Amino acid sequence: MHLPIDIDSIKGFLDPGEGRALHDAALTAGILGPVIEIGAYCGKSSVYLGAACRQIGATLFSIDHHRGSEENQPGWEYHDPELWDEESGSLDTLPHFRRTLRRAGLEATVVAVVGRSATIAAAWSSTLGMVFIDGGHSMQAALADYRNWSTKLTPGGTLAIHDVFPDPADGGRPPFEIYQLALQSDLFEETAAVKTLRLLKRI
Ligand code: MG
Repeated sequence: MHLPIDIDSIKGFLDPGEGRALHDAALTAGILGPVIEIGAYCGKSSVYLGAACRQIGATLFSIDHHRGSEENQPGWEYHDPELWDEESGSLDTLPHFRRTLRRAGLEATVVAVVGRSATIAAAWSSTLGMVFIDGGHSMQAALADYRNWSTKLTPGGTLAIHDVFPDPADGGRPPFEIYQLALQSDLFEETAAVKTLRLLKRI
């Protein structure tokens, strides 16, 4: 795996082993159709996925409202004051995300889709090769992302879910819950587990 940028220079919470697994999954799943990620933040996962997409001539659509998830807000555990935008009185990760894409030379491969995941899903009709769910961690958000996007996967496509914590003491449950739903649906089989990342194949 060759990454076009020093990955540690990008803010974010993705483990390098998880990033490599995403990259390798996109190399094959991206041949089946476009790759979607929900939750771009400053573009760390976008680089892993985007580098793979560029290699095979695929496109990554990277969805985020760029105002931060709940845990990124002031007073919460994962708040970063450097991402605060004074004028709007909110987080704004979009300039950081764009900078990452430019520095990585991925602007022709990765398309930033700025808005709410559910709004975009409602108007999205093409089938997909891969979906990476790494958005809001509330049950409502995680469930909506799972229901709205996993159903667009083509057979053989890959569903990736981040922040899956089997032990509730380690972290919030909604990503784990949708992972369980996917397995119980009999529409998916697990192909890999790397730290908190789970990869499932659409049967
Ligand atoms: Mg995550």
